[in-house]
Amino acid sequence: MVQRATLLPEVKKHYGDLKNFVGGQWVDASATEWLDDTNPATDEVIARVPLSPKEDVDAAVQAALGAWEEWRETPPISRARYFFNLKNLMEDHFEELARIVSQDHGKIIDEARGEVRRAIENVEVAAGIPSLMMGYNLEDGAASGIDEEVFYQPLGVFAGISPFNFPAMVQSWFWPYAVATGNCWIAKPSEQDPLVQARIFELIEQAGFPPGVVNMVHGAKAAVEGICDHPEIKGVSFVGSTAVAKLVYARAASHGKRVQCGGGAKNLLVVLPDAKLDKIVPNMISSVYGTAGERCLAGSVVVGLGEAHDAVRKKFTEAASKLKVGYGLDETVQMGPVITKKHQERVKGYIDTGEKEGAQVALDGRRIEVSGYEHGYFVGPTVLDRVTPDMTVAKEEIFGPVASVFEMNDLDEAIEWINKSPYGNAASIYTSSGKAARDFRYRAKAGSIGINVGIAAAMAYFPFGGMKNSFFGDLHPQGRDAIRFFTESKVVITRWV
Ligand code: NAD
Repeated sequence: MVQRATLLPEVKKHYGDLKNFVGGQWVDASATEWLDDTNPATDEVIARVPLSPKEDVDAAVQAALGAWEEWRETPPISRARYFFNLKNLMEDHFEELARIVSQDHGKIIDEARGEVRRAIENVEVAAGIPSLMMGYNLEDGAASGIDEEVFYQPLGVFAGISPFNFPAMVQSWFWPYAVATGNCWIAKPSEQDPLVQARIFELIEQAGFPPGVVNMVHGAKAAVEGICDHPEIKGVSFVGSTAVAKLVYARAASHGKRVQCGGGAKNLLVVLPDAKLDKIVPNMISSVYGTAGERCLAGSVVVGLGEAHDAVRKKFTEAASKLKVGYGLDETVQMGPVITKKHQERVKGYIDTGEKEGAQVALDGRRIEVSGYEHGYFVGPTVLDRVTPDMTVAKEEIFGPVASVFEMNDLDEAIEWINKSPYGNAASIYTSSGKAARDFRYRAKAGSIGINVGIAAAMAYFPFGGMKNSFFGDLHPQGRDAIRFFTESKVVITRWV
C-alpha cells in the first residue's frame, strides 16, 4: 500500500492552458491543435499545450530581432547581472521547480532536484561571460608594427529544441550561453512535459531580462519546422532522438544555419573481473534505472567480462529486483513511471521482442502493479539475459528501464561492440586496472567515458559530448564550446601609423 503520508505536495493540480512568452508578454498561441499534458504516475491531465504554428515562431523572431541591437550593445558584465538574478530566483524556487519536474516528467524527486541543480549550474557558468567571451591578440602578429586580434561577436537570433527527458536541464545547455554572448533566444520545449520551462520563464521575466531577449514557443513538429526554415534564425540547438536530430540537422543546415543536434544512444557498461562488485553494482543500477532509463547517458547494455559474467548478472538482477517503483513525489520511491502510455507500450513491446528473439527475461517489469497508481505508465525494472549482438534489443535504443545483459570474453570484444555501434553517446568501464581504463578511454568511440562511473555527465563548464549518430554538428552544448557556437570570430589587423 502506498504511504500517502510520504508524498510531497504537487505545486498545482492543474496548470491550465499554456501560453507562449513573446516580447516579454504571455500571449495566446494561435494553435488550432492542443495536447493534453498528463502526470505519468496518475494519468491525470495537468495542462493543455498549444501546438503553435510557424506564424507563432515568426512572432517570437520579430520580438527577438527588435531586442537584439540593444542587447548586443549591453556590456557583458551587465548581461551577466540578469543571470545572477535568475540564479537567485531559481535557488529560491528550487524545490518548487523540482516538484514540477517530478509531477510532469515522472522522475523521482531526488533526480528532479539533480536536474534543476544542473540547470542552475549552466546559468552560473554563463554568468562568467566577461571572461568566457574574451578574444585574443598578438602584437606584431601580422608583421612588425602590425598587430592582430580576434573578437567574438553574437550573430542575432538562435533557437533551441529540447526533448522530454530533462525538461529543466537541456534548454539550459544552450540558452544561457546564447543570451550571455549577446544573442536573443527562442525556446521550444518538449510538448510532453513543458511545465517546468513555463515556470522558469516566469522567473526569467522576474529576473528582468529585457522584453524580446528570451522567448518561448510551445509546440511540436510545425514549430520545429518553422524554426529550421526561418531566414532570421542564425542557428539551432537540438536534442532528441536520432531520427528527428537528422531531420533537424539537414533542414536547418540547408538554410545555412549553424546546427548542433544531440541524438539517441545505446550505452555499454563493461565490468572487468578485477572490479569491486559491491561498490559498483549500486552505481550500475542507478545508471540503468535512474530516470526510468529515459536518459541519453543511461547504461542499457551490461557486460561482465569472462569470469565476471555470472557474478555481475546475479548481483545486478538481484539489486534491480529490489527497486521500489511508484510516484516520484513519494520520497521513498526509487524509480518512477515512463513519460506516456504510448511509450510504456513501446518499452513493453521491446521486452516482448527480446523474448521472441531468444533473450531470457530474468526480471520482468511488464506486469508491474503500483498500488494506488493503477493508471500510471509504469514499467518495472527489467533484465534481459543472454542477449546477443544480433538481437533488436541489443541494437536499438529502448529508452526505458531495461538492461540487456551480454557475455563477452575480453575488453577488445567490448570496445569492438562500442565502436561498431551506430551510437556513440557514452560508455563506462568498471575496473581497478589503470591500464585497462586508459586503454578503454583511448579506444572507445563514445563522447562521454565513465571510469567506475555509470553516468558520465559533463558539468556545465565542460562540453556535453556525443559521437556518430548521437551527435550531428561541430560544437557541443555547454561551456566554452557553446560560447564558440553562439559567436563568430572577427579578426582585426591594425597598422599603427
Ligand atoms: P524527440 O526526437 O521525439 O523530440 C525532441 C524534440 O523534437 C521535441 O521538442 C519534439 O517536439 C520535436 N519533434 C519530435 N518529432 C518531430 C518531427 N517529426 N519533426 C520536428 N520536430 C519533432 O525526442 P524525445 O522522445 O523527446 O527525447 C528522447 C530522445 O532524446 C532519446 O532518443 C534520447 O536519447 C535523446 N536525448 C539525447 C541527448 C543527447 O545529449 N544526445 C540528451 C537527452 C535526450
